[in-house]
Amino acid sequence: MHGIQSTADVTSWLVTGRELFLIIHILGVLAFAYIVAQRLVPLVRAQRDLRFDHPLVRLGRVLKFWLGQWKHPRYKTAGTIHILIFAGFILLAMRAFTVLIVGVSENFVMPGLSGRAGPIYNTITDYAATVVFLCMVIAVIRRLVFRPARYAVPARFGKAHTADAIFLLALIAILMVADSLFAAAKAAAQSQQGQPLEVLAVFSLPWILQSVLASTALPTLGRVYFGAYLLHEVTFYFLLCYRPFGIQFHVETSLFNVYFAKLDREILKPVRWGVSDERLDQVKSFGVKTFEDFTWKHVLDFYSCADCGRCSDNCPANAVGRPLSPRFITIKARDYAFQHYPVLGSANNGTPLVGSKESGSIYSEDEIWSCTTCGACEEECPLLVEYIDKIVDLRRGLIDDGNVPQSLQKPLKALESRGNPYGKMEKKKADWTKAKEFQQTCNVKIVDGKNGADTLYFVDSITACDDRMQAIGRATAKILNHVGENFGILGASEKDSGHEVRRFGEEMLFMALRDHNVDAIKASGVKRIVTADPHAYNALKHDYKDVPPVEHISQVIAKEVKAGNIKFNPVENTDSIYAYHDPCYLGRHNQIYDDPRDVLDAIPGLKRVEMIRSRDRSFCCGGGGLMLFYEPKEDQRMGVKRVQMAAEAGANVIVTACPFCMVNIEDAIKVAGMEGKMTAIDLAELVDQQIARGVEVSKRLVEQPNFLSSRARRGICGAGEFQ
Ligand code: SF4
Ligand code: SF4
Repeated sequence: MHGIQSTADVTSWLVTGRELFLIIHILGVLAFAYIVAQRLVPLVRAQRDLRFDHPLVRLGRVLKFWLGQWKHPRYKTAGTIHILIFAGFILLAMRAFTVLIVGVSENFVMPGLSGRAGPIYNTITDYAATVVFLCMVIAVIRRLVFRPARYAVPARFGKAHTADAIFLLALIAILMVADSLFAAAKAAAQSQQGQPLEVLAVFSLPWILQSVLASTALPTLGRVYFGAYLLHEVTFYFLLCYRPFGIQFHVETSLFNVYFAKLDREILKPVRWGVSDERLDQVKSFGVKTFEDFTWKHVLDFYSCADCGRCSDNCPANAVGRPLSPRFITIKARDYAFQHYPVLGSANNGTPLVGSKESGSIYSEDEIWSCTTCGACEEECPLLVEYIDKIVDLRRGLIDDGNVPQSLQKPLKALESRGNPYGKMEKKKADWTKAKEFQQTCNVKIVDGKNGADTLYFVDSITACDDRMQAIGRATAKILNHVGENFGILGASEKDSGHEVRRFGEEMLFMALRDHNVDAIKASGVKRIVTADPHAYNALKHDYKDVPPVEHISQVIAKEVKAGNIKFNPVENTDSIYAYHDPCYLGRHNQIYDDPRDVLDAIPGLKRVEMIRSRDRSFCCGGGGLMLFYEPKEDQRMGVKRVQMAAEAGANVIVTACPFCMVNIEDAIKVAGMEGKMTAIDLAELVDQQIARGVEVSKRLVEQPNFLSSRARRGICGAGEFQ
């Protein structure tokens, strides 16, 4: 053939290469199948999860997020390396398969590659192997020398996985070298024998190795050829079987994880899939208490995490030193699964997941309560690993066992008795409308069966009960009044939307609040709902059923500005520089990023900058709803970090569109000692302050070129560098 014996024909220790490699193939495949079967056991024992709907949509997401590596470029360096490795693997898949078969059948050629396509494919894969090899070297150097902070493992979360990561990177590098050496030895032998040469891609790894081997004696080349093949086979199967024991398992599971990922991220997981609200009282145990209470998809998440640290790098709780790092919610659960469902030996399940380390639990209560459900982790994860549902399920488990944090007990009781966490009496819920000056300009009616309205302004607890936030309510009402909206409020009939109640795991209380509000809304006869509270917006839109369509006030204002029904006076203070803070439940959870910015850009003379973390990378202010009452362990307030980000961007006014953000940011300005240097204002308040009242509608569009061009001026500054 090419001057050296084929791998199949080499005989040593009384077995031929063909027999040896056949045995390696069979053992490798059987071992892998057995390991994967064992890894499937926890999925089989886990709870139901309905993820088999919309196959075409799911397939589209696989093409986008898995094959298209959509989220990887969010981290430029690591993302580029990953995309190159992934593309290399995809290209090399057929070559690897061919090499495997060649060991037992030397003349095997992959169908479709026997003609001209063969050399082209070989050239591409020569370069692919080279790129993958180089990426492995770069990745090892990054891990050992540059050590990006997000790979670090704080002692409280366990041991670093650096050694494991480097071992796996080295194995892949060895595989690339073995593959290239195999091709190089063959080409070098062909060259020495004057046979038609398999051309190797210039400057590729196989080409370089062929140059090195050019003058090597033929018998040595034969040994290199066989040795390279043996090394390739052993490394390939070792890697295949080793991967399900660590972070590289995502190579096998990520495609399935992306396919089965949640399609409607904003809709919280039900307490039990397949159990209706009416039958919930028959459910013996709520939430996740033991590992087996997770759904099979959540176990698949644990297997699919690549330990890249992007989730924790973006988690505000982690950033301020709360005892929560989403990456370790996953890593600890995966380690638990590996330990309690071993590949060899019997399963040992049933340990409570939340509790003390001494009792074998993997999560602490503080860890689980520290999450603001901001969604930054899910937004960032390239493999679409889910967190909020799991954390809410773990909270449901805690609540079911009566483990309610001390600081939450009072507001929860008040929610049960009064329908709001502040304990305000129902009859006082509309007192914010009775401020004298306000009443002179705007009369807010209470809608019920007798007094109808087209639009319901759903106020929600904080705006109705908190003295400072009532100003947002009045501003919202004045804007609705200005645009001629026939609106009203529910007043005493409105209870808390239950948004945070649900996310804190109190499902039954949430259902009671929701059912009450749904009845009141239906009885009011309104055709649409407007709210200035993104948490209420999210609840009404995603947690409630059978209610009229809901809009956030920023959407209403943007539409009215565009239609010319709102015109603004120029800002008076030209020294003011505004930064818009995206509330998590308006931005990330509902993709409303542009409307508030368009409104700001429509105000003549308003100077606006973007913070380093904005839009879908916005940094949570500290959380809303019951999170305001929770006293977390933390080094710094999230709001303080956010205020510092605004200052770094050059802003001295933070605009937000959520009353909870307002509480946190105004507090943070005081805590950070920035009073006088920084102020905060709600979008509704700013709009109300800047509205030019009494201006003819017809002139407005002409006089507002600023607004018309604002969409083109989106994303004024980049979202910063993430490496
Ligand atoms: S939802 Fe937000 S706070 Fe919770 S784990 Fe994810 S990033 Fe952290
Ligand atoms: S959950 Fe996603 S983002 Fe977080 S470490 Fe795992 S793969 Fe990375």
